[in-house]
Amino acid sequence: MDALVSLSKRRGFIFQSSEIYGGTGSCWDYGPLGVELKQNIKRIWWRDYIQRRPDMMGLDASILMHPTVWKASGHVDNFTDPMVDCLECRRRFRADKIDETPWVHYCPATKGNKFTIPAGEPCSHCGVTRTLCPECGKGELTPPRQFNLMFKTFMGPVEEDASLTYLRPETAQGIFVNFDNVLQSMRRKLPFGIGQIGKAFRNEITPGNFIFRSREFEQMEIEFFVNPLETVEGRPADEYWHERWIEDSMAWFRRYGLSEENLRLREHEADELAHYAKRTADIEYRFPIGWSELMGIANRTDFDLKQHAKFSGKTLTYFDEERKEHVVPYVIEPSAGVDRALLAFLADAYREEEVRGEKRVVLRFHPELAPLKVAVLPLLKKREDIVRTAHAIRDELSKDWTVVYDDTAAIGRLYRRQDEVGTPYCVTVDVQTVGDQAKGEVGDGKVTIRDRDSMEQIRVSLDALGSVFLELLGGAAWASVAGRFERKGDG
Ligand SMILES: [Zn+2]
Ligand SMILES: [Zn+2]
Repeated sequence: MDALVSLSKRRGFIFQSSEIYGGTGSCWDYGPLGVELKQNIKRIWWRDYIQRRPDMMGLDASILMHPTVWKASGHVDNFTDPMVDCLECRRRFRADKIDETPWVHYCPATKGNKFTIPAGEPCSHCGVTRTLCPECGKGELTPPRQFNLMFKTFMGPVEEDASLTYLRPETAQGIFVNFDNVLQSMRRKLPFGIGQIGKAFRNEITPGNFIFRSREFEQMEIEFFVNPLETVEGRPADEYWHERWIEDSMAWFRRYGLSEENLRLREHEADELAHYAKRTADIEYRFPIGWSELMGIANRTDFDLKQHAKFSGKTLTYFDEERKEHVVPYVIEPSAGVDRALLAFLADAYREEEVRGEKRVVLRFHPELAPLKVAVLPLLKKREDIVRTAHAIRDELSKDWTVVYDDTAAIGRLYRRQDEVGTPYCVTVDVQTVGDQAKGEVGDGKVTIRDRDSMEQIRVSLDALGSVFLELLGGAAWASVAGRFERKGDG
């Protein structure tokens, strides 16, 4: 994790929010390369799930919603963690997590010497277990109190209870409250889904582990509505679609580079299921902090629509033409965090390799995720014709892709820098490309393309460059393209 955090800062992926003021608790800013990576994740998600599927539509609901939404959803009453406070140092802890960290103890059996004792263990000298504050070792703790994780704010010019509302803790409710709007305006038949990408906010007591858990984060959520009266392939429609979404979601993460061995499915046990959920499965990823939730796929039954119908007094049903009856659809909810997905893609792409006796750090991003697709590098920055050609190539390719020009170091160094940020291809312009007018030599009009993963190089004519990148960045394997061109030594 340290390597990822340090690389992220050094190379412009992720910075701590408000760093020059000492930073804020667990908020993060995406730098020039981080924002490209994040946009790519969101773009492919939207393309694969909303654009390409005939049964899906998009939505962009507002962050501030009617406060009753959060009553209906259960968040006002149940979205809480039990908290205890230290009366001495004023630190605050989650009551259910307090014994998961080492604790400070002033031991009466050893003249009050200070020890730090491993999580959950008793003192080996006096045998007591922790009862006081684990951080300062002195303060009494208050009894647990429920602390709501929603950020409160006020709508309008008066700060009074009547104008109290919340920053949404999830995007899902924006979809539920628009169910009927979408149904009516888009004239849909079940099953269909509504997807949304947007910010959500949770006032986590123990945020941390870099962007894994932060107070402001972004979600990619789908609510897929199905007719509970129908069966598909002999199974209830909700169970069939739940299974389909689990398989599709797993396949999606694999397609864009997460390794098989770092992914697993975990079914929620009966005692951890929300009371309304029929079944929930988490896709877990082996993060640097261990196996943790990457995304959840829940069968929420008809709970949400029924709750909103009850609190709003509106009818939120679907008319089943075949059976001539109104039904409340069931909903399957595949819900993923953008930041968490980004961390997983970053962690999985990160490699330290040895190349010709030197360490090479490389991010083996899927080309669709790579923040930069191509770097154009002049071999001699003093040669004006080489530099001009390189700039012209960058200008041309950047009509379709994110492309950078860099001449701030020697070529070997420039290659390593691009490897480190995961740029799949480099183009170098050299003397051969442009020729040498002083000697009366004309150039061959070819440039070198270098592949990040194999470090192989090929010579490609300038006219063919656009179509070659269309193939390579469109998913063609390097070997199948490279075979058609003249090989150069590895770079
Ligand atoms: Zn304390
Ligand atoms: Zn002791």
